[in-house]
This record gives sequence, structure tokens and C-alpha cells, in this order.
Amino acid sequence: MFLLARLSLSVVPTRRLLPACRALRTTATLKADHPDSEDGWRTVLSPNQFAVLRGSATEPPGFSEQVEGELEYTLKGKYKTKYPSEGAYACVGCGAPLYYARQKFNSGCGWPAFYDGVPGAIEERPDADGSRVEIVCATCEGHLGHVFKGEGFPTPTDERHCVNGICLRYEPTAEQPAEVQAIPALTPRQIPD
Ligand SMILES: [Zn+2]
Repeated sequence: MFLLARLSLSVVPTRRLLPACRALRTTATLKADHPDSEDGWRTVLSPNQFAVLRGSATEPPGFSEQVEGELEYTLKGKYKTKYPSEGAYACVGCGAPLYYARQKFNSGCGWPAFYDGVPGAIEERPDADGSRVEIVCATCEGHLGHVFKGEGFPTPTDERHCVNGICLRYEPTAEQPAEVQAIPALTPRQIPD
């Protein structure tokens, strides 16, 4: 309950959709097999998952790595690394593959970070005031986090998808294209301020 209360504190208003984004969605994504009501989502998501995916809350920094049962905590326990080289990460809301394993890198920011995502799986929604760009699952519209560009990371895209770990499920046997490049761990000196 403590963690949920902390999460709830950072809930920000939802429904900041831009008309242009809505227009871009395809009919295919609207037919995905997932709940279409708040009550429905509460039956498939934990309270903390619901707060983030459907309420746009942000998990506290370090939450994924430090809290037992969360994504990075589990990766470290099972695979001895937060950056396994095989597999992919899927949306906990709808199961759509969102990120390939080798796209995950150490940004030093306290949340799981990826330099790119599965093509077409992630939708960008600029905040109305232009300050940040929200990212959502293109299939179920679940809030994932934000994407930041041009920060100076030595990755193929210099983008940082800053994702709440609670939104992701690691699937170790999922296939990823051979050309997806792994990023060697960045040292603290290399991590931009
Ligand atoms: Zn989804």
C-alpha cells in the first residue's frame, strides 16, 4: 500500500491526446484483444500497473531494480544482469512486443531505458506544452513513460525511452532481428548529466 500511495501521488492528468495522434491510429490497432473499460483493465492489471498504464503515474526512481518482483529486480536475480542479450519486453497490458532485449541500455536515470523500440509498437504523443513526449503502447494505449532525444548518449539513435518497468514483461525466448545492436554498458563518466 505504501508503494501504491507513492505512485498515486505522481498521477498526472490523462487524456492529453492530440487529435493528430488519434487520426494516425489504424483500425487494426483498435481491434486488439484487450479490455475497453476501466473496470476491465482493473481485472487484468495490478493496482500499481493500473496507476501507471491507465493513469499515467510514474513509478519512483529505482523502483524496478530495488523492489522484489519488479522487472529489473527479477532480471538481476535470474540472469545476473539488467541487460540480458536475448529476448524482448512485452506490454503487460496487451502482450504486444515493445522493445528488443539488445535495445536496453544503462542511462543511469533510475528507470529502464531503451534506445529504440519494436517498429510501430510505440506511439509518441508530445505534451501540449511541448516540454516532453509521452510514449504509449500503440496497441492498447497504455502509458509507458517518455522519450527524450539528443541527450548525447552514444547509441544508434541517441534516444532514451524512459519506461516504467512495471509496464513491461520480459520474454526470454522472443526473437529479435540479428541487426539489433547491443550497447556496451556506459560508465558513469559517459552518462550525460
Ligand atoms: Zn499494450
